[in-house]
Amino acid sequence: MSALGHRPRPRPFVLLPVLAVGLVSFLAACVPAPPRPPAPVGPAEREMVFPVAGRTSYSDTFGAPRSGGRTHQGQDLMAARHTPLVAAADGTVTSLTWSNSGLSGNSLTITDADGWRYVYIHLNNDAPGTDDGSNVYERAFADGIAKGQKVKAGEVVGYVGDSGNAESTSPHLHFELRRPDGTVVNAYSSLRAARTLVRTDAERIADSPIGTLDGVDGGAGTVSVDGWALDAHDDDPVKVSVYVAGNPVATATASVDRPDVDAAFGRGAEHGFHVSDVPAAPGTTVCVVAHSLGGGGSTRIGCGVAP
Ligand SMILES: [Zn+2]
Repeated sequence: MSALGHRPRPRPFVLLPVLAVGLVSFLAACVPAPPRPPAPVGPAEREMVFPVAGRTSYSDTFGAPRSGGRTHQGQDLMAARHTPLVAAADGTVTSLTWSNSGLSGNSLTITDADGWRYVYIHLNNDAPGTDDGSNVYERAFADGIAKGQKVKAGEVVGYVGDSGNAESTSPHLHFELRRPDGTVVNAYSSLRAARTLVRTDAERIADSPIGTLDGVDGGAGTVSVDGWALDAHDDDPVKVSVYVAGNPVATATASVDRPDVDAAFGRGAEHGFHVSDVPAAPGTTVCVVAHSLGGGGSTRIGCGVAP
């Protein structure tokens, strides 16, 4: 459609308004603009703890297009590599993947008592100061974090990274919030409203199991590991995991008779562990992690070197 014939006639004195606009713009540039109010967000779908314990930046990218015709199911919380990730709620680790491959890479899901799911994707797979993809377990997940582990809100569960299809992007947590029936919801408003909570070292230590690694024996590539462990809040036997070079290779229940532990703590004798046939090359570091029974703060009770 042509606008010819409808062109407005040039107006006289156009210079004056142009000058006035210029002056206003100039003044506006000299005066700092008032802070723009944040974009309105809906009510939080779920009250929760913010899952990254450190500086983050993010905008609402829920539903944005992604490779392969997918749409973005979560929020990408940009943060420095190795920044601690904390449990968004009291709950249980209901799934955990330790893998460099796939879209998600290292990931875990926490399910709370009402069945809501908090999904953490792209956990760290690099050694400090590198982007080497070495994917040592203890650099992705906090001590004691495994499928079935109970966690407390604010407890460290893992670390920010770029595993999976985030390998070529900046490190971030892809975070999803899912209803008990599994349907995903936009986590943005819940993240905006989330409180900050990180369990302090003092709280963590007060709740942590206690124990001792008494010995790492054997040699020629196979060791046995002995010691005891006891939950701070519960007399039931705890589980222990044996880590070799930072990766969990064996799990056992600390329920072996240890009269000396009973004599020292009065919490019963069935708290010892003996784990044999653990593959560990001579000279590698062998550590034992005691899993809390739910009060939070699974902890590393000792490390030794494989003979
Ligand atoms: Zn994402």
